[in-house]
This record gives sequence, structure tokens and C-alpha cells, in this order.
Amino acid sequence: MSGFKTTLISCQQCGRRIMVRAADAERGSIVCSHVGCGAVNVLQSAFLYDEVIVQGLPSFGQLTYLGDSGATYPLRFGSNVIGTAEANTVRVDRFVHNGRCFISRRHCTLTITFDKWKGQLRYHLQDGAPEPGSQANQPSLNGTLVDGAPLLKTEVIDVNDQSIVTLGGLDRFRLTHFSIPSTMLETYKVALDYNPDRTE
Ligand SMILES: [Zn+2]
Repeated sequence: MSGFKTTLISCQQCGRRIMVRAADAERGSIVCSHVGCGAVNVLQSAFLYDEVIVQGLPSFGQLTYLGDSGATYPLRFGSNVIGTAEANTVRVDRFVHNGRCFISRRHCTLTITFDKWKGQLRYHLQDGAPEPGSQANQPSLNGTLVDGAPLLKTEVIDVNDQSIVTLGGLDRFRLTHFSIPSTMLETYKVALDYNPDRTE
């Protein structure tokens, strides 16, 4: 960790100041030296990745239908509204079972963000979507499951690579993340002055 500057942080337990040296930062933790405390303070990495990287990515991953069609649906950065409506970011086919389609027109919202600390894309899923021109989330009729677990109406969860998203109880899709190549990441790495007070 070249260029590391010795710095002071506030102890996460007692709030008093502790001096952090390069060796502490490399170890990733420092024990508070104040009498009666001794808390282990976890130190975070002293660099991040420039979010500009997302402009040059060739893909943001995809959903693959686990059924006869095997259709794939590319995703975009930001909000992806998924459902059968024409105007959606991800317009899925009307898969019909016993004469009915169980997927809502605006069924769920998959939001892709860039985690600048980890240097990877994150995929957050919520059942439902706001109606156009509205902020209020409108849940789907038949619900959304991730790896078999139903999402609560207001829940937003991180969906892992290769997880199975089930819409309306019957139609299953595999989520494939786009993994940013480490060689590309290295060129977007930005060294920071050590900042232990940051929050994710
Ligand atoms: Zn302390």
C-alpha cells in the first residue's frame, strides 16, 4: 500500500482518537489503545473504483428463461422493469399455463448499481414496479420468488449470480451477473486518503 499516510480515526467503541499506520491498514484492523476500551476497529480498504467504468462495459448481465423457449433478456444499468408490458425495459413473453399468464404487466424491478468499494455490479430485486408517472410501488398479482423464497411487498434484496427468479409462481429465470474483468478494474482503481468514516 504505497503512499499511505498515517492518520487518526475515531474508535468505533469509545470514540477517542487512534493513530492508524500503514501496517494497521495492511492488517485490516487496529486495537484501540485507550485504557478500558481495547475494541478491535475494522479498517476498510483505502481505494475505490471509478464509477465511470460502467460506461465502457459490454454487458450488464441477463435473465435466461428456464423453459421451452430458453429466451434470454439482456439487462441495463439502473432500473429494469420486468413484465409483459411493451414499454418495459425487460419485456418478457406472455408464457401461458392452462390458458393463463401469471406474470404481471409490470411484475418486478431489478436495479443494477455499481459497488465502487468492491468494484462489482450489484443486483437488487423488488416485487412490483411503480406505475408510469408515479413513485408508489405497485406489487405484482402473483408474487416474485428468489431461489424459492417469496419476496415481501416492500422487500429489496441482493440477488446473487446464478440465482433463480420465479415470476408468478411458475415461470423461472436464471440471473447471470456481468463480472467486471480484474484487468479492466485495475485501470479504474482510485487511491483515497484513508477514510474510516465512510458508510456503504
Ligand atoms: Zn476505543
